Amino acid sequence: MSENKKIEKIVGVKGMNDILPIDAPIWELFENTVQSVLKSYGFQQIRTPIVEPTALFTRGLGDVTDIVEKEMYSFTDAMNGDQLTLRPECTASVVRAALEHNLTYDGPKRLWYAGPMFRHEKPQRGRYRQFHQIGAEALGFVGPDIDAELIMLCQRLWDDLGLQGIRLELNSIGNTDERNKHRADLVTYFETNADLLDADAQRRLHSNPLRILDTKNPAMQAMVNAAPKLLDYLGADSCAHFEGVQKILRHNSIPFSINTRLVRGMDYYNRTVFEWVTDQLGAQGTVCGGGRYDPLVEIFGGKPTPACGFAIGVERIVELMKAAGDILPPNHCDVYILHQGEDAQLQAFVLSERIRDAGLDVVLHCASASTASSFKSQMKRADASGAAFAVIIGQDEMDGGVAAIKALRKVETDQQQVSVTFDAVVDYLVEQVVGEDEHEHIHYHH
Ligand code: ATP
Ligand code: MG
Repeated sequence: MSENKKIEKIVGVKGMNDILPIDAPIWELFENTVQSVLKSYGFQQIRTPIVEPTALFTRGLGDVTDIVEKEMYSFTDAMNGDQLTLRPECTASVVRAALEHNLTYDGPKRLWYAGPMFRHEKPQRGRYRQFHQIGAEALGFVGPDIDAELIMLCQRLWDDLGLQGIRLELNSIGNTDERNKHRADLVTYFETNADLLDADAQRRLHSNPLRILDTKNPAMQAMVNAAPKLLDYLGADSCAHFEGVQKILRHNSIPFSINTRLVRGMDYYNRTVFEWVTDQLGAQGTVCGGGRYDPLVEIFGGKPTPACGFAIGVERIVELMKAAGDILPPNHCDVYILHQGEDAQLQAFVLSERIRDAGLDVVLHCASASTASSFKSQMKRADASGAAFAVIIGQDEMDGGVAAIKALRKVETDQQQVSVTFDAVVDYLVEQVVGEDEHEHIHYHH
C-alpha cells in the first residue's frame, strides 16, 4: 500500500448496531429476567437458524406485507443457487421447526426464542436493520386462555423489570370470512374517500386495505377512525373467543383498551391481536406485538394447529430500562492483580487461578516481563477496572512470601495496604468481598 494513502476504516453496516460493554449488562439483565419469567410459565427455548429459505417468509407472511414487499434481506447462495433470507421475524421459523421435528406430536407446546432479526427499513430511533426480538409461541392451544396467559406473562415481565406506563391494546380481527366481508365494505368506504388517501394507502387499497387502518399519517386519522370496524363483523365464535380473553384479563386486573384499528403486519394472524405500547419512545412506541395465528401451521403443510404468540422488541425495552434510570448491577471484577518481575508474574498467575476457584472475578495485569509497567501505571489500570481489591506482588513480596492487598473502593476506612501470606490470600479476599457485597452491592430495583 502506498505510504501517502490513508487507509480507510471499515465501519459497521448502517442500521446494525454494536452493543457495547457499557450497555451489555442491561441487555443481560433483561434477558435473564425474560428467561426466568418464561420459565415460570413453562415455556421451553427453541433456537433456529438466522438464515432460512426465502419461501418460508413469502409463503408464511404473505406477499403484500411490508416485510415481504420491501424489507427482506434476500440473496442467492453463490455455491448452489438457493434462495435464502436473513430472518425478518421468528414465528415462521419456529413453526417450520416444530413441523419438521413433529414437536406437537404429544400435545401442545409452549416455546420461546430470542435473537437478531433483519429488516431493510429506514433506520431511526427504535427502528433498526438488525434488531432483536424475544418471543413466545404457543402451538396447539385453541382456547382464549392461552391468549390471556401470554398477555399476563408480558405484564409480569414489565412488572419484574420495574417498567411503568406500558399499556395493553387489544382487538380481534376475526377469521378469513369475517375479514373478507369487512374488507369489501372497507374498500368501498376508502373508495368514497379516495381524495383523502395518501400514496401508501392507495397502493394498499386493493392489496392489503386492512393495513390502511394502521396508518400514522395525521391527515388520515379522522377518516380512518370512521371506517367500518372489523369488530362489528365478527360471528358468534370469534366474539366468544374475544370475550373469553377479556374475561380472564379483567378477572386478573390486567387493564386494557380495545383499539378497533389494531391489525398486525402479517397475513397469518386471526382473532386476538394485541400490542403493548408506551408514550416514552416517540413514534416507535410498540414494544411488543402479538396475537393468534391459527392458519399458519396449515399454510406450511401441517395438520390444523391453532397457535398464539408475541414478539418483544428488545432495543425498545432496553431504551425504556435506561430511561427508567435505575442503577445497573455492577459491571466490574472483584480483584485486580499487579505484579513486577518474572517470579512475581508466575506467582500472580497461580494466585489468580486460586482466587477464581473460590468464585471471585479476577483481572490479571498482562504485560510481558520485558515490557513490565511501573506499579503506578498498573494501579491506574486497577482503579479503572472497578475492582474492589488490588493484589500487589513485587520482589519484596516474593521475598517475604506475602501479597500486598489494598481496598480500592472503600473511602472511609483505612486505605492502608495489608500484607497477607500467599496461602491466606484467597480466604482474606473471599471474606472481604462477601462483606462488601452485603454492604455495598446495589441491586436493580429490588
Ligand atoms: P411496525 O408497524 O412498527 O413496523 P411491526 O408490525 O413490523 O411494527 P412486528 O413484526 O410485530 O412489528 O415486531 C414485533 C416487535 O418487534 C415490534 O413491536 C417492535 O417492538 C419490534 N420491531 C419490529 N421491527 C423493528 C425494527 N426494525 N427495529 C427495532 N424493533 C423492531
Ligand atoms: Mg414493520
